[in-house]
Amino acid sequence: MLDADFFRRWMTVTAAAVDREAERLTALDSPIGDADHGSNLQRGFGAVRAALDEEPPVTPGAVLTRSGRLLISTVGGASGPLYGTLLRRAGKALGDASEVSREQLTEALRTGVDAVRQLGGAAPGDKTMIDALVPAVDALGDSFTAARAAAEEGAVATIPLRARKGRASYLGERSIGHQDPGATSAALLIAGLAEASGT
Ligand code: ADP
Ligand code: MG
Ligand code: MG
Repeated sequence: MLDADFFRRWMTVTAAAVDREAERLTALDSPIGDADHGSNLQRGFGAVRAALDEEPPVTPGAVLTRSGRLLISTVGGASGPLYGTLLRRAGKALGDASEVSREQLTEALRTGVDAVRQLGGAAPGDKTMIDALVPAVDALGDSFTAARAAAEEGAVATIPLRARKGRASYLGERSIGHQDPGATSAALLIAGLAEASGT
């Protein structure tokens, strides 16, 4: 079972991964965006890490809803409300249980991903974070490591796609040939789950 400690670890290791990879995320956002994805997420997950340190929530659901609200309020770019909605809605779906199973987490994340799709209007294949998140949630029923591999494959698979949502869509055909920054950061978030689980 996964307790609040696991969820705090998940957010902390994700914040560290975002710090490590910030330059790469911003570099990916440069040819098909406005070169701020790394700094956007650093600001957001930095705020999450500080808040969870200062006053650690005691349930898995509260860790995710608090983190989601912070991402929405601190990240200026499109990714803030989208990741914020993912975590907030997943957190709400977990309710006030003190421990949850991987199956319950999978269903909660599915609810969160559906909310992101509703908010942003992106479907699989539109070259967004959805292209890493959907396969990851599908594979999470098997294991954390399967979810990590699926998210990474999903991110790489955005390279030949033409963007249909977000800033990159303004480039039309010229968005082809570049990996989507948001799908890349989504793979970091899912890798964080595997790292927090120790697998
Ligand atoms: P901004 O484009 O406002 O500068 P970021 O650079 O932080 O925001 O995030 C860009 C990423 O957000 C994209 O690479 C894409 O994965 C994701 N994104 C943008 N718009 C959408 C959308 N409508 N639905 C899903 N994801 C989106
Ligand atoms: Mg950007
Ligand atoms: Mg921006």
